[in-house]
Amino acid sequence: TTDERPDDERVDGRPDAGSAEPSGERHVFEAEVSRLLHLMVHAVYSNKDVFLRELVSNAADACEKLRYLSVAEPGLIAGQDGFRILIEADPEAHTLSVVDNGIGMTRAEMKDNLGTIARSGTRAFLDQLTEKKDGQALIGQFGVGFYSAFMVADRVRVVSRRAGSDVATVWTSDGQGSFELAELGPDAELPPVGTRVTLALSKDAATYAEAATVERIVREYSAHVPVPIVLRTAGE
Ligand code: ADP
Ligand code: MG
Repeated sequence: TTDERPDDERVDGRPDAGSAEPSGERHVFEAEVSRLLHLMVHAVYSNKDVFLRELVSNAADACEKLRYLSVAEPGLIAGQDGFRILIEADPEAHTLSVVDNGIGMTRAEMKDNLGTIARSGTRAFLDQLTEKKDGQALIGQFGVGFYSAFMVADRVRVVSRRAGSDVATVWTSDGQGSFELAELGPDAELPPVGTRVTLALSKDAATYAEAATVERIVREYSAHVPVPIVLRTAGE
């Protein structure tokens, strides 16, 4: 690709680089994202529940975007029976996934959207932060977006397939300064259109893999989301 920055490196054939995919590429987060991530990782006194509101809201936005596009291009949702957001909790594996069948992202979109501060909400958050310097209190107030997942996760994996596309891209990060992008391996089954965000929960956030906790948060923060939310617990 032509837009690679000098601090981005390919990770081909480097077993220690965290990605075994031949198409793997490591990218360094924009400085402001790293700043935000640092805050998220150290958000000890913040209400961490809000991360789920953010992921559900992104999933709902993605469904609304595809719903809109499909009016002009019904083929984009051919064979799909209605928009929904699936939350999969696995207490054994300590993971929580938010899965939508919305618009999805291309590799380039993942690089831009999940690596920079493109969006207004996060921008406003950072501006406030500079003025007031009390990040902990601000986290709950603002929509802090996707990066808030790192309040509860040691590692985040996003698999996305854009509507109309036949490839899926995997984004992974431990929130420590860089993220990796790779094409979903040739052996993996092509996922349906949409996005799956999987959190490997940190030890002290294990409760977010429990159905009762997830149900409570969804009721509290996502009651008015215009897309049905389905909760599934592993083993049920
Ligand atoms: P915001 O939702 O305010 O734009 P976020 O930090 O929550 O900011 O998300 C950043 C961007 O990442 C979104 O604008 C969107 O482009 C992309 N994104 C995040 N989650 C999803 C998703 N589930 N499906 C499609 N795009 C997503
Ligand atoms: Mg958002």
